[in-house]
Amino acid sequence: MKIMKFGGTSVGRPERMHHIVSLVSKATEPTIVVLSALSGTTNALVEIGSNIAKGDRSAAKETIDKLEGHYQSFIRDLVKEEAAYQKAKAILAEHFEFLHIILRISFSEALSKDILAQGELLSTKLFCVYLEEQGIPHALLPALEFMTIDTYDEPQIGSIKVRLSQLLDQHQDKKLFVTQGYICRNARGEVDNLKRGGSDYSASLISAAINASVCEIWTDIDGMHNNDPRVVKKTVPVEQLSFEEAAELAYFGAKILHPASIWPAQQYNIPVRLLNTMQPEAKGTLIAREAKGVGVKAVAAKDNITAIRIKSSRMLLAYGFLRKIFEVFEKYRTPIDMITTSEVAVSLTIDNPAFLKDIIKELEPFGTVEVDEAQSIISVVGNEISQTADIVKRLFGSLVNIPIRMVSYGGSPHNISLLVPAASKDQILQQLNKGMFGLE
Ligand code: ADP
Ligand code: ASP
Ligand code: MG
Repeated sequence: MKIMKFGGTSVGRPERMHHIVSLVSKATEPTIVVLSALSGTTNALVEIGSNIAKGDRSAAKETIDKLEGHYQSFIRDLVKEEAAYQKAKAILAEHFEFLHIILRISFSEALSKDILAQGELLSTKLFCVYLEEQGIPHALLPALEFMTIDTYDEPQIGSIKVRLSQLLDQHQDKKLFVTQGYICRNARGEVDNLKRGGSDYSASLISAAINASVCEIWTDIDGMHNNDPRVVKKTVPVEQLSFEEAAELAYFGAKILHPASIWPAQQYNIPVRLLNTMQPEAKGTLIAREAKGVGVKAVAAKDNITAIRIKSSRMLLAYGFLRKIFEVFEKYRTPIDMITTSEVAVSLTIDNPAFLKDIIKELEPFGTVEVDEAQSIISVVGNEISQTADIVKRLFGSLVNIPIRMVSYGGSPHNISLLVPAASKDQILQQLNKGMFGLE
């Protein structure tokens, strides 16, 4: 079996949904189609939730009405037959009625997750109405019946495997399956999600669970590019990446992949292909176990980074100091991304400042604590790059006059990371494009 995941822009217009049905119909093996919400929907649902949380129900209602109008015109062009149109209308009625009911009840965190789930529920159901109108046999596999996360929000791959195969067994006559990306159930049995951009993660988890032949991520660009196309004018697709390289790029900011989306495919050795829905013949990017080619393949940037420096003369010739510092971060379940040390200081970065105040308070007994917010991590990723001759010269040669706060080199053979002020990020990505890739 294979997985074909389509992102928001790939399903965002009726003619795009028609187009992906033609792509899906070309599959020569049984296929699970994983869909995101139509583009713009999850943002609108986030807005509805935050307005309800603030108590601004009229703003929430306005967004719900606007969204409903958008879907009403979407279904008019999605299907032709009256019977299919009525089915699509009934689906909209069900989900928008739910949103209107939510307007009247008191807000909770669990309720906001219910709101966020409506996007993927709508897109998959409408997609199935169109498949039915086209006479294409298929089955909808509700993600809320198999995609689960534990108390630490970690996916439970073992039980996903069991429940998904039970669902598939119920439809042995079918070759085409449709399911929702992003949404899941948490340890309390409530509706939850895999965080923004999480449909990629769903696709990878499902590939791992069914041991798929390939996990295809169809999006609006022809693969992983060498640099962030939102920031840099001229970028080119990278043909091949190893799982490690792709994981580094995803984790360090390449938005085309959810940060955690590589590990399930890597663990079960499922090749991942990044493909362009609008240009299906383009090669895209193949992500697999082997790393091909040497040298730098791509750069990415991760925003909203906080740097923390702990200075203490007690660190001099002492052991156990780092353990004590790391324990503080462990206690607050806050991952550390980068770390550099000198004999009397340690600098590290976090991307989740939720417990920053508590962390600082607990670090203060160890020394002077300095905090720099609004930083970015720039990651240079490739095969064996830390062993590639002249890389350091080219890297720093491209960045003259740019203040660099931290450098991480040699932690992994695939990655060199720099911590820079967020305000310099765009300029750095542009300069690296020229200096490392010869692109302007
Ligand atoms: P989808 O809705 O299909 O999940 P996303 O918007 O999440 O699509 O991801 C695709 C977008 O990622 C591209 O349109 C591009 O702007 C952005 N992007 C950021 N960095 C990269 C990169 N290195 N290569 C390709 N795309 C990137
Ligand atoms: N719809 C969700 C989001 O916009 C999940 C996804 O698109 O991957 O974040
Ligand atoms: Mg995405």
